[in-house]
Amino acid sequence: MEKIDGASLMARSLKQQGVDYMFGIVGFPVVGTAFAAQKAGITFIGMRNEQSASYAAQAASYLTGRPQACLTVSGPGVIHAFAGLANAQQNCWPMILIGGASPVYQNGMGGFQEERQVQLAAPYCKYAHAIEHTERIPYYVEQAVRYAKFGRPGPVYLDFPDDIIRGQVDEEKVVQAATVGESPRTQADPEAVEAALSALESAERPLVIVGKGMAWSQAENEVREFIERTQLPFLASPLGKGVLPDDDPLSVGAARSTALKEADLIVLMGARLNWIMHFGLPPRFRPDVRVVQIDIAPEEIGANVPAEVALAGDGKAIVGQLNRALDNRQWFYPAETAWREQLRGKAQANLEAVQPMIDDESSPMNYYRAYRDIESWLPDDTIIIGEGANTMDIGRTRMVNRAPRHRLDAGTYGTMGIGLGFAVAAAVTNPDQPVVAVQGDSAFGFSGMEIETMVRYKLPVKIVVLNNGGIGGGVGPIEEGKTVPPPILTYGARYEGMMEALGGKGLYVEDPRDLRGALDEAMAFDGPALVNVLIHPRAGRKPQQFEWLTT
Ligand code: ADP
Ligand code: MG
Repeated sequence: MEKIDGASLMARSLKQQGVDYMFGIVGFPVVGTAFAAQKAGITFIGMRNEQSASYAAQAASYLTGRPQACLTVSGPGVIHAFAGLANAQQNCWPMILIGGASPVYQNGMGGFQEERQVQLAAPYCKYAHAIEHTERIPYYVEQAVRYAKFGRPGPVYLDFPDDIIRGQVDEEKVVQAATVGESPRTQADPEAVEAALSALESAERPLVIVGKGMAWSQAENEVREFIERTQLPFLASPLGKGVLPDDDPLSVGAARSTALKEADLIVLMGARLNWIMHFGLPPRFRPDVRVVQIDIAPEEIGANVPAEVALAGDGKAIVGQLNRALDNRQWFYPAETAWREQLRGKAQANLEAVQPMIDDESSPMNYYRAYRDIESWLPDDTIIIGEGANTMDIGRTRMVNRAPRHRLDAGTYGTMGIGLGFAVAAAVTNPDQPVVAVQGDSAFGFSGMEIETMVRYKLPVKIVVLNNGGIGGGVGPIEEGKTVPPPILTYGARYEGMMEALGGKGLYVEDPRDLRGALDEAMAFDGPALVNVLIHPRAGRKPQQFEWLTT
């Protein structure tokens, strides 16, 4: 009778469920699982730290629209990957963590790397389960994939013990599982759809906010039609950027604070009123702001601010419903209103406020000067990864996104360390597109060793390190004999030398006049490249009306 082992059955089940990528680090007891995955046609990417592998798996999931996998060894390997589970949960992104585990027959004995993995994974997951019989692997994989993908997406965990991996079962005893299909596209109550349009018609200062839920639900065509037909001003959340082009004439992203503060009605599309959106509360919003909310998770509706109209369901389906309902209304927001005028004025003023910094040729350069060359250098279809404090915040406003799901950053959880894992995932899943990671020097340090992964797999990622020698602001060179302040890193550290040493291309820039040439050289290089750009240690953002993290 034909037999199959647990490792091969896991690989076959994952492949059946559309898992094409597995990021991980092998060792006891999962080496065979990685080999089996390759044999089943899954691309296995061996990373240098499980945190990065777990970040890569979720970015690959978000970018492909299907849950992808992370594979780790037992105990510490699983624990390291929890960083990714927590990040995916906060971002509402799917991923599957498969954690090797000590054999079931040693449970409780103090086995090698024995740990309470399911119990510890559970709080970070939509679903966490141990596989206790080899023949039931397909059952658990189907369930895990379905939970990760359907409804509000999120991470799932499967515990994969050594004896289950090595177990041999008769093919005819293997439990068969159905293939998980596309996510159900649940529609909103038609009365709520009409109520949403009526609410909009009564608003004087309406604003649409596009979040990453719309990017995930692939609602770009529906959102574009809605904005074109209604002519409503809109802005995107950091990862909602690109669902509609940032440089669309109706985008008011350049007047973000004013748009949020003065809007009398917001249409919240797949975005949460959490810290990123200042909780929807004063002083960042009007106390009486009206909310029309689209979200796949009904329990999210009304979070922090009660929703006047609740549109619970799939973003793509619901904006499609709004568009059909518009057929009977012929309504659009007028071209000339005081609201549009105010937003235009504010956007213009913001632009003028940063222009001197953009034009500043002093050396070492400031962020805005650096971004002037980075923005004009970026090809249109680049997948952009931003990570760091000022580097990411200023990058959000300076690097234009014109396509959906082309931007990844620290996200809802504000995680430092995601950058290179995300970059690896972007390059592996989109081999024909440029991938650029712009990181602060601190951010780069969290996962810098992944440049070896990029060299090994020939991933032509271009990394730009905006190097101010610190976490947040730097101080420049540390004086002899002085205590090193906690936020300080080596000023002028030659990170490009690491890339050179490992087999990629490294370039160092001090003078702003050399930046564009270095970026071009990096892009022309057939492989990973790192451009290390010295930034003035006290360079920062333009003066802000509200301090960071103010409510
Ligand atoms: P952002 O950071 O872009 O504001 P959030 O992560 O805060 O985005 O919010 C995204 C929201 O999108 C979550 O509340 C999630 O439930 C929702 N969401 C996820 N998938 C869908 C979908 N298919 N349709 C509508 N909303 C969705
Ligand atoms: Mg820094």
